[in-house]
Amino acid sequence: MADFANHCFVCGKEVDVQTTEKNAQFNLPVCTECKGTDKEKKAVEDLLEGMAEGFVCGCI
Ligand SMILES: [Zn+2]
Repeated sequence: MADFANHCFVCGKEVDVQTTEKNAQFNLPVCTECKGTDKEKKAVEDLLEGMAEGFVCGCI
């Protein structure tokens, strides 16, 4: 999880947090290549699903 602090949460590329925009919903960095793309939306959905599963039942 610590990687999210300075990596694009969509593609995992290392980013400069000082100059990188953040996803408003999660406050996570998104690089310019992923910002506003379908990939970003998909990553958001995956995160939401992961959270929901983790909190609700913890099963995989
Ligand atoms: Zn990216």
